[in-house]
Amino acid sequence: RKRDGKNGASVYDDAISDRTRQRAEIEKDISEALENSWFEAHFQPIVDVETQETRGYEALMRLRHGKKGLLAPANFIAVAEETGTIGLIGNQILDDALKNLASISKLPGMQNAYVAVNFSPLQFEPGLPIRIASQASRFGIRPSQLVVEITEAVLLHDNPEVRKILDQIHEFGCRIALDDFGTGYSSLSYLSRVPVDIIKIDQSFVRSIGTDQAIVAQKNRMLMESINAIAHKMNCTVIAEGVETTEQFKLLQSLGVDCAQGYLFSKPRFVPDLIREMTTSRKP
Ligand code: C2E
Ligand code: CA
Ligand code: CA
Ligand code: CA
Repeated sequence: RKRDGKNGASVYDDAISDRTRQRAEIEKDISEALENSWFEAHFQPIVDVETQETRGYEALMRLRHGKKGLLAPANFIAVAEETGTIGLIGNQILDDALKNLASISKLPGMQNAYVAVNFSPLQFEPGLPIRIASQASRFGIRPSQLVVEITEAVLLHDNPEVRKILDQIHEFGCRIALDDFGTGYSSLSYLSRVPVDIIKIDQSFVRSIGTDQAIVAQKNRMLMESINAIAHKMNCTVIAEGVETTEQFKLLQSLGVDCAQGYLFSKPRFVPDLIREMTTSRKP
């Protein structure tokens, strides 16, 4: 909130102190959340386009604040990355994701379900592959049941250390997914340098389908067709994100995309709720 100052400088100062206060509050929320284990991995299903069966889930971070309720990551991930707490948060999310997947895996027909976990650039330090291996075995999760989702930000400086860590994770048997594909600067070159198994087509391509921007929609359709062809040539699985309408889903089906994810199927869910539904709505 800005008060009207007598001159420009005091309005400006007020704006800065507002931002400083907001920022301090986010930092406080994060440290409180770390202390009290308020970070949760909510699960959004990823469905097979042909059968519409759930193949796996993306783990999406939520902060269940004691007073403020459920907070989405947009509010705090940037701050966590700047202050370095993203490493600790990431560990809590990985553990919660694996624990929740272990529960889901016990349900009939779900023994091969996977979880895709988002990783920030700062998490790629030499201890990561061992941590993944030990936590997976602790929760009884096979390596093939964990997908490591990275964005271009992880690969940006072509750091050989980061590439080695990705190679180790891949060698261990986890799959690597390239997130938000098609939105960055040089996405294609990463495909030859990093062991990518899954390409996630960014939501922005899907979003225009069915809007009144017919030309944009048509161009995005052609881009998705091309991304799909390149990905399949590289033996990658293709997932389209942000699918909200049946029209979008039908188009993705016709393009031959492998999997889809979006509100059309489900929003990210608190896993105990998801499991309760899966066990009570099962037809006799
Ligand atoms: P993302 O990895 O691209 O995740 C997809 C985002 O789109 C999620 O937002 C999801 O809730 C939302 N979404 C899914 N389906 C639809 C749809 O049909 N329509 C629309 N409009 N949105 C949809 P969310 O959960 O708020 O996460 C935002 C971003 O925060 C993620 O983008 C990811 O970059 C980051 N993030 C989330 N969880 C983690 C985490 O555990 N670690 C790290 N490092 N980043 C995370
Ligand atoms: Ca993601
Ligand atoms: Ca994405
Ligand atoms: Ca994103």
